[in-house]
Amino acid sequence: MTTALCVPVFVKAKLDIEEAIAEAEEALEGTAGMIELRCDAATAKGMSAALDAAHLPVIVTIRPTWEGGFSDKSDAERLALFQEAIEAGADYVDIELAAWEKSRDVRETLTDAAEKNGTRLILSNHCFGGRPADLAERVARLRAVKEAALLKIAWKAESLLDAIDALRLPQQGPPNDRRPMVALAMGEEGLLSRILARKFAAPFTFAVAQRGKESAPGQPTVDELRTRYRWDAQRPDTPLYGVAGWPVGHSLSPDIHNAGFTAINAPGVYVPLPIRPDRFAETVEALRTCPGMHLRGLSVTIPHKEAALLYALEHAAAIDDLSRHIGVVNTLAWDNTGRLSAFNSDYAGALDALVAAWDGRRETLTGKRVAVLGAGGAARAIIAGLVHHGATVVIYNRTPEKARDLAAAFAGGTGKVVAAPWDKLPQSCCDAFINCTPVGMHPHTAATPLEPITEGPCAWSADTVVFDTVYNPQMTRLLKLAKAAGATIVPGTEMFVRQAAIQFAEF
Ligand code: NAP
Repeated sequence: MTTALCVPVFVKAKLDIEEAIAEAEEALEGTAGMIELRCDAATAKGMSAALDAAHLPVIVTIRPTWEGGFSDKSDAERLALFQEAIEAGADYVDIELAAWEKSRDVRETLTDAAEKNGTRLILSNHCFGGRPADLAERVARLRAVKEAALLKIAWKAESLLDAIDALRLPQQGPPNDRRPMVALAMGEEGLLSRILARKFAAPFTFAVAQRGKESAPGQPTVDELRTRYRWDAQRPDTPLYGVAGWPVGHSLSPDIHNAGFTAINAPGVYVPLPIRPDRFAETVEALRTCPGMHLRGLSVTIPHKEAALLYALEHAAAIDDLSRHIGVVNTLAWDNTGRLSAFNSDYAGALDALVAAWDGRRETLTGKRVAVLGAGGAARAIIAGLVHHGATVVIYNRTPEKARDLAAAFAGGTGKVVAAPWDKLPQSCCDAFINCTPVGMHPHTAATPLEPITEGPCAWSADTVVFDTVYNPQMTRLLKLAKAAGATIVPGTEMFVRQAAIQFAEF
């Protein structure tokens, strides 16, 4: 069974329903699709016009306000509308578990009508407030209704673990109940349960034709699923990769890595993994041990890079010496025997971006004098790489103690490393300046951590490299000023793309 993408369309007065359905069907072209007609506010006439207009299989839903929908119709009105939908040939009708349990009339009328007309009943339950404490009991109640052809449960995710649970839930039914189940975790932390619906062989999942037309929180667009998340390439054994961070919604990594898999025609889907602070190890373990997940690689970003190293150490991973010394890793990769390796691709991506501005060789760093602005995680990795390759590093940081600590941590390596006061930066005589602070990042794009040095023996020239690790925007104010002053500039995207390429090669 191919997993269908189901586009919800609200049937309302004052809406050109034919146009809305045509838009949904156009979005679904080329993939298995269906339409959910949300008839919460529909008249019988409106619903009938919608059923006539749809060419794809249709679910009719009339979601009452008490279940998170918009329908204030009475039970009798809803039942009459359902009957009409069934008689008009709806493929599915979606009835809430509570409505089914409450009324014998609903049970008998819908069962009879559905049997006569070949319509299939979807029995559903929703919790928009969070994970219901009685989730297992709700699932058991759904399973107890033998008349339902398809079961559906959705709740608002409270963490990524809910999305993982939603993916597992359909596999956990008793062996004598093989009915298809749609289990969804709603909201940003539940997105995984939608993206991987095809890999986990769900009967369908919801996706909208356009942003702004969601019928529940967290629904992606059809285009996002197909283009960004390789929907059409997903198979049950597709390896999973992702970026683990908090927040992570803005990350460009899924676009880069999924485009990479497509370009080399390799199996793999790369997803955003919003993991709350302090829940790294627990969540990675849940992903790694989830049957059918096939976790093979993680890019790790703020705030989990230290936790990733700890996780790697606890799981006897292969870790290179420099990554150990840096004290954080941004990549975890499992080979096909389950053996874990961990490393830091940030420093390597940054060094390669920097030396590309000279002659592309890391050896060129020997004897170069490099100013690093900042003493946080990015600075630490870059300083480690620079010192390892023989550069002399001068660390400038707003909080001087942190610069001194960092200099002490990397003293005694191949290159030299010293801390200097932040206010001495305008007199710095260096071959390269690397901004490792967030100054200049969106939305504070008018800020710069440093003004160009234009006079005296340290004046910038074409041989001076100014590298801004900030990549949003690509051309920061610092880079614009440096370019105008005649320096050679390196945008943060150069580092980002290079570190991603190093990860991709290891995955
Ligand atoms: P971090 O650990 O929080 O460190 C931030 C550093 O910036 C600290 O040293 C901090 O100084 C300094 N800082 C913050 N605000 C400042 C201000 N207003 N003026 C002067 N200094 C300030 O962050 P991180 O992980 O190192 O990341 C830093 C930046 O690197 C990010 O914003 C990101 O844009 C960039 N980055 C880029 C890539 C890439 O692939 N291009 C990868 C990783 C990071 P104090 O010590 O005084 O607080």
